[in-house]
Amino acid sequence: MIRFEQVTKRYLSKTALIDVDLEFPAGKIIGVVGENGSGKSTMLKLIAGLLRPTKGRVLVNGEPSHRRIARKVAYLSELETYYPFFTVQETVDYHAAQFGDLDRKKAWEIIEFMGLDPNAKIKHLSKGNRGRVKLVVTLARKAPYILMDEPLSGLDPIVRDSIIKGMISFIDLDYQTVVITTHEVNEVEPLLDQVVALREGQVIKVMDLDAFRSNEGMSLAEWMTNHYAGHSPLKKQGS
Ligand code: ADP
Ligand code: MG
Repeated sequence: MIRFEQVTKRYLSKTALIDVDLEFPAGKIIGVVGENGSGKSTMLKLIAGLLRPTKGRVLVNGEPSHRRIARKVAYLSELETYYPFFTVQETVDYHAAQFGDLDRKKAWEIIEFMGLDPNAKIKHLSKGNRGRVKLVVTLARKAPYILMDEPLSGLDPIVRDSIIKGMISFIDLDYQTVVITTHEVNEVEPLLDQVVALREGQVIKVMDLDAFRSNEGMSLAEWMTNHYAGHSPLKKQGS
């Protein structure tokens, strides 16, 4: 289980998260949603132990998150972190050397599913295919926590559906918990069990999507439009 206890994260001058108190249940797919700058990536980096909270604690399996948590966490970064001269296969080998829980057979299956050429060099791949490589090395790990920061960015909207279906089939919720950040709620909504909505560094809602669907009679995207209206960066510029 992942737990935020009164967590505030400040960068030099900017407060990215304010007093976040939250529990992510195990064995679920949780979406962290919100506009750009609302603190989604910061939240994932805190779980992954890449950042320390300014105040409060982030607990992963009861332990304060720390860099060595990386062994238990498969983290897909929003950045392009791979070596351009490696092939797809070499990228998988590199990650397998780094993380003992990378399942090469599974990596191979995901490469096939994604239609990637294992011998292609990263630098020759399209943005969408580089995004797929990130999914390969993340989903092939048997880590109990899978954290994905905007995993669909760069992917053609037309292929997103099938990639999302693939993602579900490569995750094992018997022992894995998945946290996905996204500002493209429409695409991932069918995938999610729970949603954490962030606005300007604060949690404005935690919802169980099954209950939400039967109670609210609207889609998550509609809910978001209602609750973020008047808070959009564009509107703020004028005020
Ligand atoms: P999101 O992923 O939802 O777009 P982030 O967590 O990346 O949001 O950022 C939250 C806020 O913190 C933003 O205002 C962003 O500009 C700021 N921020 C993020 N990283 C840094 C950093 N390294 N230094 C200073 N400010 C940062
Ligand atoms: Mg982000």
